[in-house]
Formats: sequence, structure tokens, C-alpha cells
Amino acid sequence: MNRFEQELCELKEKGSFRSIPSITHEGKYIIKDNQKLVNLSGNDYLGLATREDLLQQFKEETQGQFLPYSSSSSRLLTGNFPVYEQLESLIASSLQHEAGLLFNSGYHANIGILPAITTKRSLIVADKLVHASIIDGIRLSNAQFVRYRHNDNSHLLKILEKEAANYDEIFIVTESIFSMDGDVADLRFLVEIKKRFSNIYLYVDEANAIGVRGNNGYGIAEEQGVLADIDFLVGTFGKALASMGAYVACSNVMRDYLINTMRPLIFSTTLPPVTIAWSYFIFKQLPRFTHERKQLERLSILLRDIIAAKGISMPSESHIIPYIIGDNKACIDFALQLQKLGVYALPVRPPTVPIGTSRIRFSLSAAIAKEDIEATLSSL
Ligand SMILES: *Cc1c(COP(=O)(O)O)cnc(C)c1O
Repeated sequence: MNRFEQELCELKEKGSFRSIPSITHEGKYIIKDNQKLVNLSGNDYLGLATREDLLQQFKEETQGQFLPYSSSSSRLLTGNFPVYEQLESLIASSLQHEAGLLFNSGYHANIGILPAITTKRSLIVADKLVHASIIDGIRLSNAQFVRYRHNDNSHLLKILEKEAANYDEIFIVTESIFSMDGDVADLRFLVEIKKRFSNIYLYVDEANAIGVRGNNGYGIAEEQGVLADIDFLVGTFGKALASMGAYVACSNVMRDYLINTMRPLIFSTTLPPVTIAWSYFIFKQLPRFTHERKQLERLSILLRDIIAAKGISMPSESHIIPYIIGDNKACIDFALQLQKLGVYALPVRPPTVPIGTSRIRFSLSAAIAKEDIEATLSSL
């Protein structure tokens, strides 16, 4: 056996081997091994990705526009189209910033922005549970790096008080809704302490909150009333917005700075104009999806109550709801049991989550009706 085969064997023994599931889709259902399962593992939080009415409306509104399926270049060369700038203006005004800038994905945003804006005299202070893409961005940067205990404001404050004078700038980095625990950062507090220091910037990843939270769907920053106070407000189009790509809302200076320094922006073909037009079409309507947000909230409360009633640790305050089991293999067995009951909800294991906290990660969608899941999940 060579090293690669050996390592794969070890993963299998630990119950950590990953593979790409063979599935097909039918609206809110996943078809697997001829069985029709309610999809509780997707990120189509508002249920917009399968909406025929929206697709139809999009086709009508964009009829006659030149929206190719490739941009054929980086935006800095020939890849720019008017619709990119329209979407950036819309993002800037909606999210109360001077500027917006688009990226090919949330992953690109997080691996690109942090290395671009930091030097070896910068310190990144990140929440312990930030997404892998943020960790990779930190690794690609020359910055110094510390993590604070998850959502622990006093730990963060201690670090800042100790370190603020030792660096040119400090970047606090967090998610708003955490992608594995579904709990929510206290952005108001982060904004407040940022203002106590002259050299601190705040970077917030709203990947799991944009579209879903706030009166207009502009995320936790809107819900907590701090939209304008976050220096780098990042989000993805790949989840609730039912598209592909990502954005940052920032200042004009930072937008120019990123255009001049951010490698995944400069050296990669930009997304197809048709995709950007679709993102624009959805983003423009975000304030209208209140019914979907309400439905998602109702379902989330239902499932959180079911899990909490079992006395299982339940950190979630959102539509991302972990059912923490602990052991890898028990977690896989549990997922298979759920599939027998008609529910598709996938196990998440280390290294995605800390060792000993393997879990089923339910991520709900407004496309799902209460009746689809209530009986099954209550019977667990
Ligand atoms: C999903 C996710 C990303 C990645 O976004 P993509 O557009 O899918 O690349 C980044 N950050 C967080 C917190 C996420 O949950």
C-alpha cells in the first residue's frame, strides 16, 4: 500500500472517510437509492433555488439583454459588465456602505481579503470556530494570528488590551451565524469595542445570515442595527440567495485597495454575467421575502424545541441546528436511520468540527413544511 491508500484506509477505520453522494434532486427532495428524502442538509435557506415563478420572472425581466454564460476574463481585463457594477451599487446602498465588491465565491472572498489587507505587522484575532475558508485566508497571510474562545467577549477584550499597541492594525474576524453551531455573534459588542481603539478593523462573514435575518434580509448586522459599523461585511450568494458568488461591503478606499492587491480577484476569471444578473435579481427582492423568513423561523423553533426537550446540548439560535452525538460512527448510523425515515440530514465530523462533537447538522429551508418533518423528528 502506498501512503495515499494507507491514509484513506485510516480514514475509513476512524469513520472519517468522505465521498461525494450520488443523488438527484426534485425540488425540496433528494432522491437517493430510489428513496425520496426531505433535504435537511442544503443551504437553500429561503427555498428560492427551486422556485419556478422566480426563474420565469427572471427570464422575462432579462429578455433581450446580453448575459453570456462566461465573462471570459478577470474583471480587471475584459471581464467587467454593467450588471456587476449595478449589483455592487445595490449592495453598497442596501448594506449602508460606500462600496461593494464581488467575488467568485465566499471561499475566494475569505482566502483573498485577509492576505490582501494584512502585513506581518498586523494581528488577526479570530473566533475559535470561524469557517475553514477564513482559516485558509489567515494561513495565506503574513499576519500574526490568535484565536479567542468562541463568542467569548471578555477573552477577546483581554487580547485586544494586551496586543493593540504592538501592531499596526488589528483585524477582528468572526461569522455572524456560525456555520456549525448555528449560534450568533454579538456584533453590537464587537462594534463597541472596536471603537475604543484607533487601529482595529472588524471583519464579519454573514454567509449563513444574509437573506435570512433582519427586516430586509440584510443579515445579523441589520438585525442588531450595526450595518454601517462593520469595516468588511462579507456574504455569499451561494446559500439563501440561491446563486453563486460573494461580496464585501466596505469603504471606497478598501475597494480600491482590494482591486489592487487581492489575488483571487485579479488572477481568476470572474463569474458569468448571467449569474451576476440572477444574483442582482434576487438581492433586489430580499426585503420582500418576509413570508419565507417567517416560515424558516417557525421551523427552526420547532426543531430546536424538539432537540432541547431531549436534554441534548443545543447552542443554535438560528436555522442551522446541530444535533450533537459525539462519536463518528454513532453519528453516521444516526444519519442512516434518519434516511430510513425519509429525512436527508448529513453527519459532520472532525476536522470540520472539534473532536468528540460529531453531529447531524440540520440546516432548514423555508421550502419545507412543518408536516414534512414534525412526525419524523419527534419520533427520534
Ligand atoms: C459557506 C460558507 C462560506 C463559503 O461560501 P461559498 O460561497 O460557498 O464559497 C464562507 N464562510 C462561511 C461562514 C460559510 O458558511
